[in-house]
Amino acid sequence: MTWQDDFKAAFMPNRPLPPLVLERGEGRTVWDVEGNAYLDMFAGIAVSSLGHNHPALVAAVTAQIGKIAHVSPLLTTEPEIRLAGKLVELLGLPGKVYFGNSGTEANEAAFKMVRKHAGPDKYLVATENGFHGRTMGALSLTGKKAIREPFAPYGVDVRFVPYSDADALKAAVTDECAAVFLEPTQGEAGVVPPPDGYLTAARAICDETGALLVLDEIQSGVGRTGRWFAHQHEGVRPDILTLAKGLGGGVPIGAVVGVGAAGDIFALGDHGCTFGGNPLSASAALAVLETVERDGLMDHAVKIGARLSDGISALRHPLLAGVRGRGLWLGVLLTAPVAADVRDSAQEAGFLVNNVQPDAVRLAPALTMTEDEADSFVAALPAILDGVGS
Ligand SMILES: *Cc1c(COP(=O)(O)O)cnc(C)c1O
Repeated sequence: MTWQDDFKAAFMPNRPLPPLVLERGEGRTVWDVEGNAYLDMFAGIAVSSLGHNHPALVAAVTAQIGKIAHVSPLLTTEPEIRLAGKLVELLGLPGKVYFGNSGTEANEAAFKMVRKHAGPDKYLVATENGFHGRTMGALSLTGKKAIREPFAPYGVDVRFVPYSDADALKAAVTDECAAVFLEPTQGEAGVVPPPDGYLTAARAICDETGALLVLDEIQSGVGRTGRWFAHQHEGVRPDILTLAKGLGGGVPIGAVVGVGAAGDIFALGDHGCTFGGNPLSASAALAVLETVERDGLMDHAVKIGARLSDGISALRHPLLAGVRGRGLWLGVLLTAPVAADVRDSAQEAGFLVNNVQPDAVRLAPALTMTEDEADSFVAALPAILDGVGS
């Protein structure tokens, strides 16, 4: 029996067979069980924001599990309270927080807030190719048809508009619209940033009708684009902000911030979950936020991101169509649908990348990535592309 056989026997067939069994990581490097090293260029889908085995994260979680690991929402802990305060401080807007365990849960909570606020009859607007999660509420808002349609119907009226098109958004949002769900840059669609001004337009459109603007920063948040939250580049105020992925640096956590009046939509008993605000994940998230702040990792992400982006843009290769994105969050565009082959070729060369779309590779490395590491990837990329299909 190989591990592949064990894997197939053990797990539901919803996941593709992984190409590697990883054992450990250190900084931006991971090792598989055979001892091969790889430079991790996507950090577990933009999650391991400090890299692997970061001393601050290890110390915080180790100390916390030695004190108390779980208390339930019936009680609270200092890390939970401190984390909520820190998130609101970084947002720079008055707000109140709800903690869950994942991205999709954060969007479920946001969806319930919208329903409570607007009542049962209004519709929602989301974007084509958008991604908000896999549970039924978040899935109903997910614009990727291949993911959403097999599980329809959802019993909610969600209308999809093309992303980046402010006119289409304006036409879709009437007085009968409860909320607009938007990613500040579409992540799963292949790291697709909207034109400047799109989020500002979305804010104005929602203000005209009273629709809530829900910004899903589950992938874009926590420093990845060079600001704490990507919407801060445009100075746009969300009514509801959802966070997860990079917040816990690898420890599962989801968060919702209700901004201003939206912070008081939920009344006593309206929502909750057993693990929400768990002190282990709260300690992890505090360590992430404090390290990003102390080490200047947002400026660093901008610098290293530009180095990667400029380096890749300067390459000439028949498979390379360009690069887009901001900070340490890039889509490398290909001229053919060979992203899975690029992933395999990169792995052969000692780099882990993510084939986010058939013709796009996602780079979302730890915010701690060094110049040398970024340069080593750029230097290796032509040979990686040469290796495709060979
Ligand atoms: C990953 C992601 C989600 C879902 O998060 P999970 O933790 O996988 O449930 C939702 N929205 C966006 C923008 C994401 O990138």
